[in-house]
Amino acid sequence: MKNNVLLLTAISVALITACKNEKKMTENPFFAEYSTLYQVPPFDQIDSTDYMPAFIEGIKQHDAEVAAITNDAAKPTFENTILPFDKSGKTLNRVSKVFFNMTEANTNDQLQNIAVKVSPLLSKHNDDISMNAKLFARIKVIYDKRKELKLDDQQVRVIEKYYRDFERRGANLPKEKQDQLRKVNEELSMLSLKFGDNLLAETNKNFKLIVDKKSDLDGLPDDVISAAAEAAEKDGQKGKWKFTLAKPSLIPFLQYAKNRELREKIYRGYFMRGNNDNANDNKTILANIVRLRAEKAKLLGFENFAAYVIDENMAKTPATVDAFLNKLMVASLPVAKMELSEMQKIADSEGGNFKLQSWDWWYYSEKLRKQKYDLDENELKPYFSLENVRNGMFAVAGKLYGITFTKVTNLPIYQKDVETFEVKEADGLHLGILYLDYYPRTEKRGGAWCTDFQSAGWENGKKVDPVVSLVCNFTPPTGDVPALLNWDETSTLFHEFGHALHGLFTLGKYNRTAGSVPRDYVELPSQIMENWAGEPQVLKMYAKHYKTGEVIPDKLVEKIVNSGLFNQGFVTVEYIAASILDLDYHKLNAPAKVEPESFEKEAMSKAGLIPEILPRYRSTYFAHIFSGEGYAAGYYVYIWAAVLDADAFDYFTQSGNIFNPELAAKFRKYCLAESGDDEGMIQYKKFRGQEPSMDPLLKRRGLK
Ligand SMILES: [Zn+2]
Repeated sequence: MKNNVLLLTAISVALITACKNEKKMTENPFFAEYSTLYQVPPFDQIDSTDYMPAFIEGIKQHDAEVAAITNDAAKPTFENTILPFDKSGKTLNRVSKVFFNMTEANTNDQLQNIAVKVSPLLSKHNDDISMNAKLFARIKVIYDKRKELKLDDQQVRVIEKYYRDFERRGANLPKEKQDQLRKVNEELSMLSLKFGDNLLAETNKNFKLIVDKKSDLDGLPDDVISAAAEAAEKDGQKGKWKFTLAKPSLIPFLQYAKNRELREKIYRGYFMRGNNDNANDNKTILANIVRLRAEKAKLLGFENFAAYVIDENMAKTPATVDAFLNKLMVASLPVAKMELSEMQKIADSEGGNFKLQSWDWWYYSEKLRKQKYDLDENELKPYFSLENVRNGMFAVAGKLYGITFTKVTNLPIYQKDVETFEVKEADGLHLGILYLDYYPRTEKRGGAWCTDFQSAGWENGKKVDPVVSLVCNFTPPTGDVPALLNWDETSTLFHEFGHALHGLFTLGKYNRTAGSVPRDYVELPSQIMENWAGEPQVLKMYAKHYKTGEVIPDKLVEKIVNSGLFNQGFVTVEYIAASILDLDYHKLNAPAKVEPESFEKEAMSKAGLIPEILPRYRSTYFAHIFSGEGYAAGYYVYIWAAVLDADAFDYFTQSGNIFNPELAAKFRKYCLAESGDDEGMIQYKKFRGQEPSMDPLLKRRGLK
């Protein structure tokens, strides 16, 4: 601990002396509440030299706040322990929110350097708190008599949440078991890193497909060919074409290349990653990860790692997830087999004298897609200008919840293309601020996400209004053509907007519970919005030609709706297969010993998987579960939430009004605003009146 203080002091001195015109304490914008309109971050006053001193001060203040709690001579109470702990770390939180959002959305070398320095400080700080025995002892005293303390339901829930957080990190274990756990954690983090590094090498370095005959490129689109020529030239192979295992290179090759042997070659390269008995082999590593996780679960008193993880989720037990996945597998497998036989017919009619294999799926499904759905993205795009789509999603939220979005131009922004909107209730009351950052930049990472600069909260008896931000990487405008979105981008915007509404509507007096939902619930608020995006009635509201204003024709609407059924058997089966594989590994009890190849084979044959489909991720490249712990025993969560969102939207449809105001009010209250007030399933049932049914999802995917 003492070393830590010295280290922090040393860094702060170094930084201050390195910066000639350093600001005084009072001038650092993170040291006090923001005085800006709506308390948004004062981006125009933030300099990158402000971050490190603010982190250091934030950690110092947080440590002092925790020390004040643990040194209190009075008996532990909710008011003197739980509440101040729940509200602690404000300065650290303020700077972290801005800093980590900027390293994602608007980074530079300076920020990256700070991130490298600050990450170990923060992880140490977090460990210091979660292993603070004095703090846990106080929480435990309150937890043990929580029922006798005349507290309200929310206060009891907050106590239980904090107690569980500490307990799940081993706070309740005797010293020698804690030491054992720390060792297991350390080993696990090293192995996860190694798994990821190996996979990176196997994907980016250890395989390439060099094509030197032009005829071997038959079927590939021009832009794919020229990208491959460029890649080859960069690799010193001018005049040839290079394909890799990166998705933008691999997928079009599998979709369009007529040369079947080469398709097989590249697909083999893909599905053998980490399984080549070379220096980057992941088999032993993942076997050790599985063993250590089983050991960790046992130390913490769980039967296996899946039980440890799922205990916190809506599903509660591995058995529930098991039954859930098997039901979906049974429903989707016949559809996938039908898709396969339709594709086989195409291959046969073309005179191909072979039985389709896994590397043929993309090629023939693409042919099937053209034949059955005839949907051309370029025909759609003019109806989906960014502005129209954005106004469309605002209008949907308006019709559901009565809220309005007014553009504001006098708030500080971190980049000139960022737009800000004030969100107001139907009666004009301020609800929050929404930042929208649409286009790719070299300073921004890929993908789309929703985040916030200020979460909805409660301070001194008053609500703290949220400041939410959506960050995307959409096709930018060119010349006098505005940004035109494809269908995927359109649904993505609605999806992220759903997360934003969750953040904007959240209510709750305690940071630990407000808006805090289990992993298998998180995608309900977002995925449900995608349903509205694709409804014919809604498309007619917003999909208007950017030049003529013409409303999207029925013919195109029909194509959008129908193409939702494309390849759904395959997509569902490969996903479920990977989820089952994940669960099977983590259902092993300690001491778990696996031989990944035979284990995977057995798990997949037990699940009934056909050889023409591989699990979406095979063991040796299943980064979601082995490179980091984020989705271990949790790869199923996406489709769990899809059952919820399909069931919830079906409730609207069945009522005869997809904007049914009563249902919208209930969804807002129980599933968004009060989402963290109780267990996920309880909140869902308050809205729905019953448990979700799997049928609406099966129907939506054409599996029933
Ligand atoms: Zn999401």
